[in-house]
Amino acid sequence: MMYKDDDKIKKEFSKKQNIQLLLFFLMILATPLLIILDPQGISCVKDSLPPIFSVVLLGILVVVGLGTLINWRCPACGGFLGREIFQIQCKRCTFRFK
Ligand SMILES: [Zn+2]
Repeated sequence: MMYKDDDKIKKEFSKKQNIQLLLFFLMILATPLLIILDPQGISCVKDSLPPIFSVVLLGILVVVGLGTLINWRCPACGGFLGREIFQIQCKRCTFRFK
């Protein structure tokens, strides 16, 4: 397959990869909150926490979810790149990012 701006696409991919790593880091930060605010209510700390924690957690989940959906697409074909952050090739259009 031929592409007009291979380097531009590669640069765009590494930018997207950085954003994705940032979102992944946010997700790691949110994990302890998720455990504290477990939906089953097993932990009794839950009730003593101010509701702002739930709002922050929900905010992070929405940002990570939407951010991934919008950002994590192949710059060449626009296809969703899946769960793997460190990819060398698009599974859909076979464009090589590295
Ligand atoms: Zn692609």
